[in-house]
Amino acid sequence: MSFVIAIDGPAASGKGTLARRLAAHYGLPHLDTGLLYRATACALLDEGLPLDDVEAAVAAARSLSLVDFDEGRLRAREMGEAASVVAAIPAVRAALIDMQRSFAARTEGAVLDGRDIGTVICPEAKLKIFVTAAPETRATRRALELARAGEDADYAAILEDVRKRDARDSDRSAAPLKPAADAVTLDTTDLDIEGAFAAALTMAQQKIGGK
Ligand code: C5P
Repeated sequence: MSFVIAIDGPAASGKGTLARRLAAHYGLPHLDTGLLYRATACALLDEGLPLDDVEAAVAAARSLSLVDFDEGRLRAREMGEAASVVAAIPAVRAALIDMQRSFAARTEGAVLDGRDIGTVICPEAKLKIFVTAAPETRATRRALELARAGEDADYAAILEDVRKRDARDSDRSAAPLKPAADAVTLDTTDLDIEGAFAAALTMAQQKIGGK
């Protein structure tokens, strides 16, 4: 039976790590949907086009190829910011729906993480987790991640980014960041990766009765 897990939450909440761990645990494919928005923004920047060029953004979103992703580049700090600008364009979101839904429709199931998986992409998902954490904790985590990748990791600038992205993602009219009515919230402020994973497994077992 198909087992779809929808993980949503704000930037640097730990949702990506959690999604990867759950996917490995249940032997399911995983899609980080943030990469789709990052790749769309990256295509525009590469062509020297403004991020609010709707026609070009939709064309870029339609022609994405998962296999061509340069993840290192897409995960850079400024690409997250650029992604949240194109992600607020309803036509860009519409252009990316089919790709995400067909990924989720695999026979065995799938784990998808993003902002609107439980609300828009996979409203029927068996398990929906809304992962959250205090902005300061998220900024600290992101700074560590960037430092490890050899990128500039100024804490104050990152905290500002986190807050700005939270506001843009939550206040937009197209698929704003919010928990689905039937999502369970997992606050990772005081949890490490193992603690968050253990809590998520308990939630999964409660929802599906173990697997
Ligand atoms: O998750 P990540 O930080 O990689 O996402 C980058 C941006 O892409 C987010 O700030 C958000 O604006 C957008 N996004 C979205 N819907 C998703 C995934 C990401 O709007 N499902």
